[in-house]
Amino acid sequence: MNKSSANKLQDLQYFGEFGGVNPSISDSSTYTFLSAKTMFDTFEGNTEGCYLYSRHSSPSNLYLGEALAAIEGTETANVYASGMGAISAVIMQLCDAGDHIVSSRTIYGGTYALLKNFVKKFAIDTSFVDITSLEIIEQAITAKTKMIYCESVSNPLLEVADIQALALLAKKYNLPLVVDNTFSPLSIKPVALGADIVIHSLTKFINGTSDCVAGAVCGTAEFCLSLKDVNNGAGMLLGSTLDSLRAASILKNMRTLHIRMQQHSKNALFLAQKFEADGYRVVYPGLTSHSGHETMLKLMDASYGFGGLMTLDVGSLENANGLMELMQEKKLGYLAVSLGFYKTLFSAPGTSTSSEIPMEEQLAMGLSNGLIRFSIGLDNDIERTYQIMKDCMTYLEITPEKIISA
Ligand SMILES: *Cc1c(COP(=O)(O)O)cnc(C)c1O
Repeated sequence: MNKSSANKLQDLQYFGEFGGVNPSISDSSTYTFLSAKTMFDTFEGNTEGCYLYSRHSSPSNLYLGEALAAIEGTETANVYASGMGAISAVIMQLCDAGDHIVSSRTIYGGTYALLKNFVKKFAIDTSFVDITSLEIIEQAITAKTKMIYCESVSNPLLEVADIQALALLAKKYNLPLVVDNTFSPLSIKPVALGADIVIHSLTKFINGTSDCVAGAVCGTAEFCLSLKDVNNGAGMLLGSTLDSLRAASILKNMRTLHIRMQQHSKNALFLAQKFEADGYRVVYPGLTSHSGHETMLKLMDASYGFGGLMTLDVGSLENANGLMELMQEKKLGYLAVSLGFYKTLFSAPGTSTSSEIPMEEQLAMGLSNGLIRFSIGLDNDIERTYQIMKDCMTYLEITPEKIISA
């Protein structure tokens, strides 16, 4: 029987050092060896189950990795000090100087900047493509290409990557398909759809309390071990390892992920449908008007819905700023970047999280000035939230008619 991801997570049952219901936290940077020979073997990578030093691995990090592998259906997972720590480790592990990456152009701003500006130092070149066009992607592949990179649901435009189709293309050229699944934990399982490596910013939905940054790489045991290799592992050598205390706290938060995702999705779908019916330009993959709606339906586990992210175009940056300030005043949430929090978060991506992307490229990909990105919270009464939001918009005279004519 094919157990669902949430069941697999639920079945991970640990006993702490004193029989506690949570595993004990490994509060050590270094570990003792009873024999000097075992220490040597561990350095050589020949001793399984031995801990050496916490930058390499720690029991708490392994527990969290096990939980992430359970939800993504991979052999194993490594955890990192941030999503960017995970992404940079994967890129540096898979690419040598002179190599090439084919990446979606609608990706998280930090990843875009890393690929566009930073890895240039190592002569790694990236072609940014429209990830919904297999033809364009295939044309971009060269003999030097080492991976295809995308986000399952992209930031901030919520473009849905057809992971099944991309995986077939990647296989044809023997390339790994690397998918950042930060926006759609549980609802999309990239590896089951043919992807090779899954990345998460745990900072967002998986942790869900906006109290830390963390990341993960889910994949084969071989790849995850290679990242930890003491001689050649990008994770080990670049040093973006997660702290054990934080790993333990994220693992506890992860236990409610399935319930939270359902509520985020339910609330976001409600607001998206309401505002669309009112005549506003809303982007949400759960709307039939969304270009990726059918693809998402094909890929997703319907019980978790279409996720907590939506965008609303209010016509101008001035409108966006005014509305965000008023909504914050009315306690609807926070004018803040990031996502996956229990309260609603909103920001104008063009001037914040996607500001790394040059203005003309932003416009080319449909990132307009008046766009507000919402990460919808776990609000108890979403009908009430809608009414308050609506009142804010009426007060500021942000009407659909005015936006269209602007
Ligand atoms: C936030 C985010 C990242 C970066 O994660 P950090 O934990 O902030 O380093 C990467 N990808 C996506 C899709 C994100 O939303």
